[in-house]
Amino acid sequence: MKLTFFGGVGEVTGSNYLLESEPLDPKDRPTRILIDCGLEQAGHYCEDSNFEPFPFDLKEIDAVIITHSHIDHIGRVPKLVRDGFKGSIISTPPAKDFAEELLLDSEHILGNEAEAKGREPLYTAVDVEDALGLWKTIRYHEIKKIKDFEIELYDAGHILGSSFVVVSTTESKKDKDGRPVDGAVKKKIVFSGDLGNVPAPLVKDTEIVNQADYVLVESTYGDRLHQDLATRQDLLENAIEDTVNSKGALMIPAFAMERTQELLYEINSLVSEGRIPQAPVFIDSPLAIRLTAIYKKYSNNPEYFDAESLAKLRGGDAIFDFPGLQTTLTTEESKMINDVPMPKVIIAGSGMSQGGRIMHHELRYLPDKNSTMLFIGFQVQGSLGRAIYDGEKKVRILGEEVAVRCRVRSIDGYSAHADQEGLIKWLYPMKDSLKKIFVTHGEPEISAEFAAAASDKLAVETEVPQKGESVIL
Ligand SMILES: [Zn+2]
Repeated sequence: MKLTFFGGVGEVTGSNYLLESEPLDPKDRPTRILIDCGLEQAGHYCEDSNFEPFPFDLKEIDAVIITHSHIDHIGRVPKLVRDGFKGSIISTPPAKDFAEELLLDSEHILGNEAEAKGREPLYTAVDVEDALGLWKTIRYHEIKKIKDFEIELYDAGHILGSSFVVVSTTESKKDKDGRPVDGAVKKKIVFSGDLGNVPAPLVKDTEIVNQADYVLVESTYGDRLHQDLATRQDLLENAIEDTVNSKGALMIPAFAMERTQELLYEINSLVSEGRIPQAPVFIDSPLAIRLTAIYKKYSNNPEYFDAESLAKLRGGDAIFDFPGLQTTLTTEESKMINDVPMPKVIIAGSGMSQGGRIMHHELRYLPDKNSTMLFIGFQVQGSLGRAIYDGEKKVRILGEEVAVRCRVRSIDGYSAHADQEGLIKWLYPMKDSLKKIFVTHGEPEISAEFAAAASDKLAVETEVPQKGESVIL
């Protein structure tokens, strides 16, 4: 088989890999599948490179396998369909539900960006509709045959319904010069997608594979070690207590997917264990509210939620609901948060304060010394969130100069990605059968550092592929 790295190498966005089979009968045409088809996002929401034609013939692609629905893994799927792809799109059921919400949400942002630049948007709501028409769902461990390939999805433990993909194929045996001889060999390759940070509060632990010939492994945090779960819950408890005691507002900029639901889950635990004082908690993000509804839809399904969450649910604890929680869907409802007396907790997007409702709350409460700004996610260089995180005393928000007098805190254990130790642990059971590890989905220095660590600890050959590179496996 032949593997080409079209995206998600040398960067953490734009995941896109093409796998081509070697049919047993050389007269047959190869089966061609894509793994993910994400948006490239370096400094912008949507890089210009996304508008380029795909570097493969869309009519020859049999299927696209989606590991999970973060936009850097699915963002170009509607363009794929718009440009002529007619095969099937395959994921777990939750991944399809999330894809619909996230692709439509991005369509607004992409539409505004296109208008500002005076060009056609990358895709429209109609293209999303068409993509959903080709979208088929399979459960974890349901074997899906796509001509020469057999596909199996395993739980990646990254976000609800996320997968890593195991692809098997049978090829004819070859002699040492590469000529086919009698007999056949089975080959197996694993695409990690994004791997979870185990243990996570909602989703199950990342599954393990014991044997594979090749693996592509993400390396987003291949250079670091995360804080543990207990530490991060203590830090959250302290931030809530301190803000409530000083009668301020606790602002938490959060990504709408998984991060917001994990926060709800943890605040719910703190409330039901009586560890924090009563205060209203607002989810001030329409997307987060819609995504939480999808979490609730699957919340009695043992296929997706871990044992602890299910036990709470079965005991009658609605894990995403607790006394004091309010959701604000409309702009009018959002503005009414201002009139609610202190103390209060506000969870809003965007996760790095680049746009979104959190900015309106920052405008109001950053100058208040009794309030707290709590960061729970990575803040990219150049973002408003990063400036506040770095301790700037004055920032510009929506054209106004704002003094930062509130407390500024951060918790770094909320990452949805495995750290170096987690990635090595996941690879370990495969090490004796692996011929090569391809290190992908990371900034170049981090991928290189992880590749060195992996070859050292596992004694397997590693490679950090280049964009556009092909390998015969
Ligand atoms: Zn992801």
